[in-house]
Amino acid sequence: MFKKILIANRGEIAVRVIRACRDLDIKSVAVFSEADRGALHVRLADEAYAIGPAPSSESYLVIDKIIKAAIDSGAEAVHPGYGFLAENSNFAEACRRAGLIFIGPTPSAIKLLGDKMTARTAMIKAGVPVVPGTEKPVDDEKQAIAIAKEIGFPILIKAAAGGGGKGMRVVNDDSEIKSAVRGAKSEAKSAFGDDRIYIEKYLARPRHVEIQIIADSHGNCVYLGERECSIQRRHQKVIEEAPSPLVDQDMRKKMGQAAVAAARAAGYVNAGTVEFLADDKKDFYFLEVNTRLQVEHPVTEMVTGIDLAVEQILIAAGEKLSFSQDDIVIEGHAIECRIYAEDPSSDFLPSTGLLRSYHEPAGPGIRVDSGVYEGAEISVYYDPMISKLLAYGKNRKQAVSRMLRALDEYRISGVTTNIDFHKTILVHPEFAAGRLSTHFIKEYYQVKEDGISALEEAAALTAVIAEHEARNTLSLSSVKKPEASPWKLSWRPGCESGRE
Ligand code: ADP
Repeated sequence: MFKKILIANRGEIAVRVIRACRDLDIKSVAVFSEADRGALHVRLADEAYAIGPAPSSESYLVIDKIIKAAIDSGAEAVHPGYGFLAENSNFAEACRRAGLIFIGPTPSAIKLLGDKMTARTAMIKAGVPVVPGTEKPVDDEKQAIAIAKEIGFPILIKAAAGGGGKGMRVVNDDSEIKSAVRGAKSEAKSAFGDDRIYIEKYLARPRHVEIQIIADSHGNCVYLGERECSIQRRHQKVIEEAPSPLVDQDMRKKMGQAAVAAARAAGYVNAGTVEFLADDKKDFYFLEVNTRLQVEHPVTEMVTGIDLAVEQILIAAGEKLSFSQDDIVIEGHAIECRIYAEDPSSDFLPSTGLLRSYHEPAGPGIRVDSGVYEGAEISVYYDPMISKLLAYGKNRKQAVSRMLRALDEYRISGVTTNIDFHKTILVHPEFAAGRLSTHFIKEYYQVKEDGISALEEAAALTAVIAEHEARNTLSLSSVKKPEASPWKLSWRPGCESGRE
């Protein structure tokens, strides 16, 4: 077993992995940017290495700096968390070349699955149902119109290298195609340096249901049930739960087997998530594979009793899975609310600043995964997620009641949060009835749901920086004029790109 692991991340996921290391009696090494000198993950780790200035492009995204810290610390393995470099095959490869074990799948599996188009092709080959659409990149609007005629409007233009809902455009008719193709291509180029786009049928009111899989290096691969992540805003998850109110035993088995087939087709090792869109007829279609631990992994841990972060480490160390498919039992119900420092009444504008007071809820069935403490700062540089609040119950009703109790108990001052917004969703009769779709928030709340335009991003950034200046909590001399907001340039959990 490893003696020391470096965690190439920050925030709650770095804390989560440090805890897994501690449970396994493995020493943990943190890395931190200048903005994170006093962060919780730095305080909790056994050792910590500075890796540069606050912008993630100069710290958490710099492969060489992280590899150097790993070597200097004497770590044998690297856990990437999610976001930043977690799905960067060059990083996995750089670890291998430096003699470090990357806790995740092989570089080639990351590469194959990280590209939505090659992943789609591999899934079609493996017999996994995919959303109707194209297998080849679409170059111009003429081609796009021809494809739309074939599969029917509405269509969704997607970036092959996409993540975090970026580079996606819904197109309802011919007249919108030209600008959508151009807009998606240029957004994809600037966000991912790759302007390949393709087209999928835009499914009406689908549900997002994903399967957690885990595979060892000895050929064993199992599925750990599903998570429903239909409560989304701008294609980003807000609330997740396990099991899904839609999924029965039969559907779980079918989806699970499809997910395992998908994993096997890619030669997948370690924990991963196969995402699907599903409809009320219980048909499901492959969306993408996330080749890392998901933000929402704890709901699966709560209903299966399996510690996914620990299992990831054991698998990377070459151990066999200690359970088989028949051992997996889904018990009870778990819900996760992503608690963000953002203002729902101002179009969810991030609300950065110091957490003047901070008190986390507790009590039966409650778990809080956070990377903060009272007095810590929600920085303009990173994703403004404060914590993941989780509630477990013997059934969905009890999990919801406990979540509401915990949301009431949460005390945060200094920044605005989405806690009340979560409450309004949980008490919504359609949510209570389990009648969910990815359009839930758009349909029942007066919130804008279009892709974030460059203009909106710039406006949001200006407002946040102005607020900071007013509060004088941040020296702006070090802030370079960003092309997009820092939280977009780094990552947004659930959007899974360095990218999230
Ligand atoms: P990303 O990697 O950018 O997050 P995904 O392909 O995972 O993009 O999709 C994110 C979300 O976008 C889905 O959960 C769903 O809400 C929506 N979406 C994606 N593809 C489709 C589709 N073909 N039809 C309807 N909604 C879709």
